Amino acid sequence: MSADNNTSVESPIEKRPPHETQLYVSVEEWKWPIVYDPQYNIGFLGLEKLHPFDAGKWGRVYKFLKDDNIIQDDTTVRPREASEQDLLVVHKKSYLESLKWSLTVAGITEVPPVAILPNFIVQKYVLKPFRYHTGGTILAAKLAMERGWGINIGGGFHHCSSDRGGGFCAYADITLAILFLFERNPKVTKAMIIDLDAHQGNGHERDFMNDDRVYIMDVYNRGIYPHDGFAKRAIKRKVELGHLTKDDEYLNLVESNIEDALNEFQTDIIVYNAGTDILEGDPLGCLSITPKGIIQRDEIVFEKARKRGIPVLMVTSGGYQKTTARIIADSIINLKTKGLISCQTEKNCPPSPRESSIPSSDRNLISWFKGFIPSSSTPEFQSKEHCTSHKTTVTTTGASDCPGQGLQ
Ligand SMILES: [Zn+2]
Repeated sequence: MSADNNTSVESPIEKRPPHETQLYVSVEEWKWPIVYDPQYNIGFLGLEKLHPFDAGKWGRVYKFLKDDNIIQDDTTVRPREASEQDLLVVHKKSYLESLKWSLTVAGITEVPPVAILPNFIVQKYVLKPFRYHTGGTILAAKLAMERGWGINIGGGFHHCSSDRGGGFCAYADITLAILFLFERNPKVTKAMIIDLDAHQGNGHERDFMNDDRVYIMDVYNRGIYPHDGFAKRAIKRKVELGHLTKDDEYLNLVESNIEDALNEFQTDIIVYNAGTDILEGDPLGCLSITPKGIIQRDEIVFEKARKRGIPVLMVTSGGYQKTTARIIADSIINLKTKGLISCQTEKNCPPSPRESSIPSSDRNLISWFKGFIPSSSTPEFQSKEHCTSHKTTVTTTGASDCPGQGLQ
């Protein structure tokens, strides 16, 4: 851990007057500040069946929470899709224009076959879901200020900054959520990002470079993507882990550094990027945290925030193993069990029918698309082998190269 100071680079975000937005809707008191929409689930045109990651994890988290009577359809907050005007709060027009090229989106999502798709398909199946996630993070941040906590079941695109995407992140939802609060909520003049995804959060770091209103704590595996040395200059509290770091060491570092960060910086809100790619066996994260460790980690963050009366927003970010959705749901259930999040109306809300993430009318298109995807040529497959081969050789203090790619 170290504290870096940076003095010579201006913030890349252009100041604009607040615009009219549909994202800041009023939410009925009896709804939980848990935000989700079926539109989150990319489906990836069938790609999820060929990849080692679960691109429908958000829908599965939601299903688990419904099955356990934590939330129901009518108690869940539904976000709107972020509009171009909303996105322009942080993004440069030229960046948004670049997303009209499928090749650009293929690079951001690290899925090469996306490059050959007509852009209207990429917009519908890839970017539109991301815009819903982004609307969700912005709304959940508003709710966190009103209720003391908010959870977006998706979001956490921490590799995207104002003028560039990457690592499966097309829009800078964390930056946007904070800037919306700065613009629209006079109670928020300072914000803290606690980024505990396995990867460095270089997107929000670039966006808040030299912005004294935002304190960034980032705990990540230094041996994996994105290796963004420039962005590191924006981190106020940096904890770099080696490969295969285990629960005890990890949780001790997380707890002590959050405590120190909160003593160091008086914040009006905590934005918690709760990536689960720290999970043992994750082909991209290369850490070795158990499901129990992840649940404890989330509890630590909420406990520290709630005890101090600081509103906390959680986004789920990276982590796409098949077991990930169950762990995220279990963690949210644990937060409720421990009294760190509360619900007043669950008894009044009957269970609702299941939802399908992909409309049946689109299945022919999915079949067509699958024909273009070689089963072993994606970066993720290569990364998995690469990461595994390092397991016996790396130490927790001397990380070397693992995957060159990142998914959040
Ligand atoms: Zn990650």
